[in-house]
Amino acid sequence: MSRLRQLSRHLYVYQDTCLVYLLVDGEHGLLIDGGSGSIVDQLGALGVRQIEWVLHTHHHRDQCQGDARLVAHGASLAVPEQEAHFFTEAEQFWRSSRQVHNYDLSTDSFTLSQSVPVAATLADYASFRWRSYTIRVLPAPGHTKGSIVLLVEVDGQTVAFTGDLIAGPGTLWHLYDLQWSYGAGLGGSDGLQPAVCALADLRAATPDRLLPSHGEIMDDPSAAIDALMVNLRDLVRHLEADANGATGNSRPVGLVPDRRLVQLSDHLWMNQYSFANTYILVSDRGDALFMDCGYAAFHHVIAGFRFTEHSIRELAQRAGLKRVDLFIPSHYHDDHIAGAPFLQERYGTRIWAHEVMVDILEHPRSYALPCLLPTPIRVDRSLRDGETFEWGGFQFSIIHTPGHTRYHAALLVEVDGLRVAFTGDTLHAGSAGPMLGGPIYQNRFALGDFETSIERLRAWQPELLLTGHTGAAEVDTAWLDIATRRARESAVRLRTLAPVAEDVGFSLDPSWVSIYPYQSTVRPGRYLDLTVQIHNHGPDCTAMVALDSPTEWTVAPHQAMVEIAAGSEGEACFRLGVPLDWTGDGPAVVWADVTLESGTSIQPFGPVAHGLVLVTGAQPSDGHDTVGEDVVLRSLVDLQSAVQTKKPGV
Ligand SMILES: [Zn+2]
Ligand SMILES: [Zn+2]
Ligand SMILES: [Zn+2]
Repeated sequence: MSRLRQLSRHLYVYQDTCLVYLLVDGEHGLLIDGGSGSIVDQLGALGVRQIEWVLHTHHHRDQCQGDARLVAHGASLAVPEQEAHFFTEAEQFWRSSRQVHNYDLSTDSFTLSQSVPVAATLADYASFRWRSYTIRVLPAPGHTKGSIVLLVEVDGQTVAFTGDLIAGPGTLWHLYDLQWSYGAGLGGSDGLQPAVCALADLRAATPDRLLPSHGEIMDDPSAAIDALMVNLRDLVRHLEADANGATGNSRPVGLVPDRRLVQLSDHLWMNQYSFANTYILVSDRGDALFMDCGYAAFHHVIAGFRFTEHSIRELAQRAGLKRVDLFIPSHYHDDHIAGAPFLQERYGTRIWAHEVMVDILEHPRSYALPCLLPTPIRVDRSLRDGETFEWGGFQFSIIHTPGHTRYHAALLVEVDGLRVAFTGDTLHAGSAGPMLGGPIYQNRFALGDFETSIERLRAWQPELLLTGHTGAAEVDTAWLDIATRRARESAVRLRTLAPVAEDVGFSLDPSWVSIYPYQSTVRPGRYLDLTVQIHNHGPDCTAMVALDSPTEWTVAPHQAMVEIAAGSEGEACFRLGVPLDWTGDGPAVVWADVTLESGTSIQPFGPVAHGLVLVTGAQPSDGHDTVGEDVVLRSLVDLQSAVQTKKPGV
């Protein structure tokens, strides 16, 4: 099938990294979103000599990566007023973007790496006139905060260019784009309410056709929108019911400077004032095992993510603590591990962790994930999944429990006759039963994760759950049954919203393509090796992968082809060469451009993942300075910190 299709006499659609719409007036054309810009190669056949304007529905890179090419072709750009800065100040965005302690879940970083000239902005409710057409602008926050819908009369029909507000009857292209911030209610997706308002406004505008950026063209707009409203309401009702009206935390109220610990059993202690909750096992010898150790109170987050010591003095007084021997985290989020570098440095505490999170702890800047602690943590022992070990006279096992994040584990131990599971943020105990610790899409979430993890916990038959934000909870089989049912029900609703139910993983996992390491440092004249990792959420496929970098840099290979079986991962390696005279300001943004081929289907996703490369002129301290020498450097900050943490603990 041709990638270019005529929809009506003056309107065409072109299948690119997004659906590109072309409005024609004689020899002149106007585009709604431009994709890769490759539509210019098709214009001759239509008798169109000149694209005069490109109007954007939002700033995402699959919509506008070809803007520089289209501008060179003579087109002018008109962009949503609320998002103009993404187009005109791209370099500033990347210079100031937050990489650690990041609680912003929005997909703002799926944006241009270099600024483009903007000729006009599209203000809410304004009209844009082009030749005989009047294009109306409707605000449509949801998919992005500044998204717009464009309405125009063409060939006797009112058509609506909807961007990614809707993908088909009842479906959304991505669910994760609607989750803007942590703990924002509405089942964690704060973009849903604005999106639902925008859908209602769109329906009231009575368009004849909906033309989405991804998905299928809809000729019955009201039915398509109503179906989506039903599905979204159903999802939110379900996720809100799951939360039981409780917020993410059930901290005791009041000011408590001291005596913050609760003794759960002879050897087990809890600090429920700390953010997240800290659990400590104290052995008969006075050795302590800390299970998570984050900020002393939630407000230390507001105080600039400030770690201050807590629990230890009180344990020494009340529990006979003599040595802070061991720390084992549930996961890598800063609210659970902020104390780890301190314990390691101050008390020589050993750090053990489940293998799934070791690399994140040791090289946080190699990952693009929310809630990262910037300080690398040296892990003394990597625990295999299912491994059992003894500490302080207690028998432990550790299991992988994805859901809240893919990189999460639970510690199982029998203490003072109680079967205890330290579950971190996988499961919480709400006022009326279990609460799932998600979905939080940016943490990396797959559809069956919660159910699998609950099953793994159930096999241990825990009696006491040590949760990350709702304290210690007594549980039984019936409680876990409810948790399983909720996990299943939310999975059904999430699948319903995906344009292709079997490929739902693409709608839920914003990091299905990632660049490793995410942040790197290299000197001018050197090489840098980067790996593009791809999780294939669809059927068996061949992935065509290219790495986009500043034009002056070299990249080898030009393109890589990787066979990836359904549901598994593949990777492609690239070598980047930075010219000796490179003087770029701020981090350079590199992009992994991915197309998946499966049978007869070819899906160009465009530049879906990005990495940051800081080019620094600093001379190396190791004396090796052969220009062109192969080097793979992690972030300079990681390196410096790694050197620091090699100092022996006090
Ligand atoms: Zn988008
Ligand atoms: Zn947490
Ligand atoms: Zn967490």
